[in-house]
Amino acid sequence: MNLELFFPFTFLISVIVICGVVLVIVLNIRKAIKHHMPTIRTPSLHEITDNLQDLSRKMGDMFPAALQDREAACLPLIRRDDPSFSPTLAYTYAKEGLRMRLSDRNDLRIHRVVISDYKSEPREKTVILQAALQYENNGSVEQKRYVLLYTLTIGKDNQSPHCPNCGAPLSDPKAAQCPYCDSRLLPQDADWRISEIYEG
Ligand SMILES: [Zn+2]
Repeated sequence: MNLELFFPFTFLISVIVICGVVLVIVLNIRKAIKHHMPTIRTPSLHEITDNLQDLSRKMGDMFPAALQDREAACLPLIRRDDPSFSPTLAYTYAKEGLRMRLSDRNDLRIHRVVISDYKSEPREKTVILQAALQYENNGSVEQKRYVLLYTLTIGKDNQSPHCPNCGAPLSDPKAAQCPYCDSRLLPQDADWRISEIYEG
């Protein structure tokens, strides 16, 4: 074979082979992409609302109704009036009161209870509690904020402590048990009670 013809010929063959290889690679890549790409389709309105409902449920769990937690500021003022005041007991009574008030609601969850304010008047001390909670209503979760008034009334009745069960006068106001009827007493804190619950 003539060398002058041989080199252009091999060059042409090489170009064809390279082109062929590149073509095969490109086709394979396209096939792989097509195979692995998820099919893109527009979700139905129903799916969108379902997802939004699910999202709002999750958001509700993450961001319950905002509360003004002022326990640190209020506690010294409350304890000036009642040194034995127990915030834990206040929260327990608050949750108990909410569960009773909202007993007809489905899936009630009380996220948090805080002391948000305190009003000290000569005859009535009021701790304002706030509670963030949620319950289910017609398939959707509703986030609510409730206000509870926890009051201590200072009146003639409280001058001499008496048993709330049998009415007997108690010589020892710190007694844990009534000496007459043996009913359990909550000394001091027994005077504090949840006086009002409202949404707010
Ligand atoms: Zn008693």
